[in-house]
Amino acid sequence: MTFESLGLDPALQRAVSDLGWPKPTPIQLDAIPPARDGHDLLACAMTGSGKTAAFLLPTLHRLMAQPKRATRALVLAPTRELAAQVHADLVVLAKHTNIRGAAIFGGVGMGPQEAAFRSHTDVIIATPGRLLDHMSQPGRYVNFTGLEVLVLDEADRMLDMGFLPDIKRVLAQLPAKRQTLFFSATMPKPISDLSRQMLQSPVRINVERQSLPAVGIEQALWPVAEALKADLFIALLRANVIGNVICFTRTKHRSNRLSDVLTRAGIPNAKIHGNRSQNQRTEALGDFKRGKVRVLVATDIVARGIDVEALEHVVNFDVPHVPEDYIHRVGRTARAEATGEAFTLVAPDEETDLRQIEKAIGRKLPRRTLDGFNYKHVPHERLEVPLAERIAVIRAKKAEDRARAKAKLERRGSSSSSSGGSSGGSSSGGASSGGGHARGGAASGGGGAPKSGSPRGSSGPGRRGPARGR
Ligand code: AMP
Repeated sequence: MTFESLGLDPALQRAVSDLGWPKPTPIQLDAIPPARDGHDLLACAMTGSGKTAAFLLPTLHRLMAQPKRATRALVLAPTRELAAQVHADLVVLAKHTNIRGAAIFGGVGMGPQEAAFRSHTDVIIATPGRLLDHMSQPGRYVNFTGLEVLVLDEADRMLDMGFLPDIKRVLAQLPAKRQTLFFSATMPKPISDLSRQMLQSPVRINVERQSLPAVGIEQALWPVAEALKADLFIALLRANVIGNVICFTRTKHRSNRLSDVLTRAGIPNAKIHGNRSQNQRTEALGDFKRGKVRVLVATDIVARGIDVEALEHVVNFDVPHVPEDYIHRVGRTARAEATGEAFTLVAPDEETDLRQIEKAIGRKLPRRTLDGFNYKHVPHERLEVPLAERIAVIRAKKAEDRARAKAKLERRGSSSSSSGGSSGGSSSGGASSGGGHARGGAASGGGGAPKSGSPRGSSGPGRRGPARGR
């Protein structure tokens, strides 16, 4: 089957042939014809399957058939990275058309995004939290009355991340008469329940298929003591057993620490996790894509949705707790039928989680050892500083800061009393502390006024703590 046989607009076929894609992937073959004909879809598709083009191409085809000045398609995605990636794919696929898209996510200014809504951008690709922020702004500039297509990308991930209430609030503000394309890597019960509420007589694609890593991925385990994981990882890099690699760690702390250890070992690396600003994440990913750094250390946030051409390796520095996470991380390599390797470093106390993964993928994974690596040596530094020790360091630092601030205040007090002449120690102390209070009052007053004004009230109940998905 060829792309020509899918009946897409010639401008879209040209974009596909510019990309050099030889033929549609299975999900594209199954999804494009019914979606092009206006049916709802319930599609079970993994990252790497070509799912993005499977929903973008028929959507673009539909928008091109009858041009209008309105936002006509909305793609909801769980993370900033995925929203940016879908937008990048749209730019490439729509390059011979007049269709425009905009990515809407948190961590960057609202202004340009507001302008995208106001100019009726054809396709909005948004994370749910930031979209709700815009929808509740006083200017009421988000207008979905002309919306024809809604896409949920990685619906299971959005539910995992707690976005169900946000999704429902967005849905309540969309026209009921629309086409809905529902994509999810897995179909647990909450997902099928949600899909039932949202879809009308959907065409089901691949729903029965168990989610397994794409073919072409060599998977292997590297058993090693927990304390020697970083050393083994570095040895694998130095021996070129591992090329360019995304390395997943269990926590942000471990990401930071591993990144430091790699830097000290002279291995160029970048890190990406939820505590990093959008700019830092974009820069880290860019450096990795351009080959400026060889290792991208990451927590789970980038496990889905990020598309890095020719990724040779994924390393699970820690065994993921749930098999789905393993499958998604491994799916980062060997995309769209290329080949790659996925390695997992396994400490003895991770064997139980590993057995669950092997059960889910239906086979035992091969175990490897690195020749010449001393599996018995004592590491010269610990990767992870235990939480209690970290807290003690933070407390000590705070106590030090407080002591320094106190000493400074006392120094000021004594210098003003010596320059203040006859007023004496106690009165100068009173003035100083009075000044301190006055400053404190002004600061909190200044902070309090706008709070009771717009920002909080305007973003309303949709505003929650974590920045994920914004
Ligand atoms: P996705 O599953 O949408 O994240 O896509 C995975 C990767 O496959 C992306 O790098 C796409 O550019 C690529 N891709 C999508 N469709 C095809 C195709 N028909 N042939 C070759 N590569 C493709």
